[in-house]
Amino acid sequence: MSKLQQQIQRYAELIIQVGVRIQAGQKLVINASLDSADLVRLLVRKAYEAGAFSVKVIWADDAITRTRYELAPDDAFLEEPKWLAGELQELAEQGAAVISVVSSDPDLLKGIAQERIVNHQKTYGKAMSTYRQMMQSDKISWCVVAAPSKAWAAKVFPGSTEEEQYVSLWNAILKAVRCDLEQPIQAWDEHIANLNARSEHLNARKYKKLHYTAPGTDLTIELPKGHLWVAADSINVNGVSFVANLPTEEVFTAAKADGVSGYVSSTKPLSYGGNIIDNFKLTFENGSVVKAEAERGLETLEGLLAMDEGARRIGEVALVPYDSPISRSNILYYNTLFDENASNHLALGSAYAFNLEGGKEMSQDDLAKNGLNTSITHVDFMIGSADMNIDGITEDGTAEPIFRSGNWAF
Ligand code: ZN
Ligand code: ZN
Repeated sequence: MSKLQQQIQRYAELIIQVGVRIQAGQKLVINASLDSADLVRLLVRKAYEAGAFSVKVIWADDAITRTRYELAPDDAFLEEPKWLAGELQELAEQGAAVISVVSSDPDLLKGIAQERIVNHQKTYGKAMSTYRQMMQSDKISWCVVAAPSKAWAAKVFPGSTEEEQYVSLWNAILKAVRCDLEQPIQAWDEHIANLNARSEHLNARKYKKLHYTAPGTDLTIELPKGHLWVAADSINVNGVSFVANLPTEEVFTAAKADGVSGYVSSTKPLSYGGNIIDNFKLTFENGSVVKAEAERGLETLEGLLAMDEGARRIGEVALVPYDSPISRSNILYYNTLFDENASNHLALGSAYAFNLEGGKEMSQDDLAKNGLNTSITHVDFMIGSADMNIDGITEDGTAEPIFRSGNWAF
């Protein structure tokens, strides 16, 4: 077996044993595209070896997705896929874990009419809202991972042969998830403990506000009372831990939906809905975006902001040091799973219920009453840089350094 194959084996084990931590008798759903078929076959094998009851794979294909956007009638983008949501919800109620393998071309929907993309996102977001709430309140174990596709690899590593690009992207992914190490599972135990030490410190400080400054950014974010900083691992409704993103380098909490003011500039391109938004700046008043500017992809950005009222507000506040390993790799992935773990980021859209004390047991209305944002969308965007400073403001107005020059200050 080649070194690459060996590392991919370790990756599959890591996803099954640490990512979703499959239990004997548990069902599993895998969302993946045909580009990642080899990894998916391995995942299915490892899942059954770990005692899975059944594994349902939902296949997608970039070429077919593109064809639909080019040729399907307009009305088709207005239909909520209730049949799909129903199936996923039923499996989730039975305790099924879910793995999503991302590998799409970051430019997949370039040139497609914006209205079709927005309509799809709205109807899909609505149909999936109950399922998404189950995920965002830890009812089920879920894990998002990645595998290369040729198109994605070509975007990340332009200028070499197709084969070299593909292998380079595999190597970059495997390094980011620590599968270049002999004992990735042990490495993850240590990494999770380190991240949890950061979140415990922040939870003890109970900051009222965060103040971000950097070139193009002067932003104040109020945090809701009872907010919880969380990292890497979560505990599902049955008490089983899982890691929702592989890789993950972030420590994150919820923003107070009406407590964001000032302006913030992006520091990495955002691939959203098959299009790229780059060099953008958002201005907030009372929590809501009142002005959006972008050098590239303004129409796509405006489509995102128009999804619903909550899409104009911040749900998630995440801290990632500029010196994190993915950031140090200096690779621009054009994929949020990686780029968000190389940079401080925020998310437009829904907050996670588990970022509030008692939130996992609350209704959407109660979460909103406690200051958390609700929305049919959740999109992370990157704002971190080596020039970013962040202060935590305590209840009595004292400013304490959290980040200096892009890195942890405590
Ligand atoms: Zn995040
Ligand atoms: Zn997020």
